[in-house]
Amino acid sequence: MLTSVVSTVVAAAAGRKIKEVGLRVGARSGVVAEALEASWPIARAETACQEANLVITEVPAAVWCPSCEQEQPIDEFFALTCPVCDTPTADLRHGKEFEIAYVDVDTQD
Ligand SMILES: [Zn+2]
Repeated sequence: MLTSVVSTVVAAAAGRKIKEVGLRVGARSGVVAEALEASWPIARAETACQEANLVITEVPAAVWCPSCEQEQPIDEFFALTCPVCDTPTADLRHGKEFEIAYVDVDTQD
């Protein structure tokens, strides 16, 4: 998973050195931030990312509530009901993200 992030980032940087990679990881994406951080030094080794920091932003889970007519954050892992009015909803709008948020490249050279 991180290997594909690294290859995407390296391709986007087009030969420039990468200083920092930001990832957005949803609370229900099945991806554990600590595991990503642990495998980052291996994934980045011997690539243009080898000196890059990995910055992970966790995206909280949120459902669309048809009664409130707005997104509501959900804390409990398996709950799919609106925390405000208890309306059941399976419309998960956030929390499944696994995406590159930004890439910082070294523009000095
Ligand atoms: Zn609601």
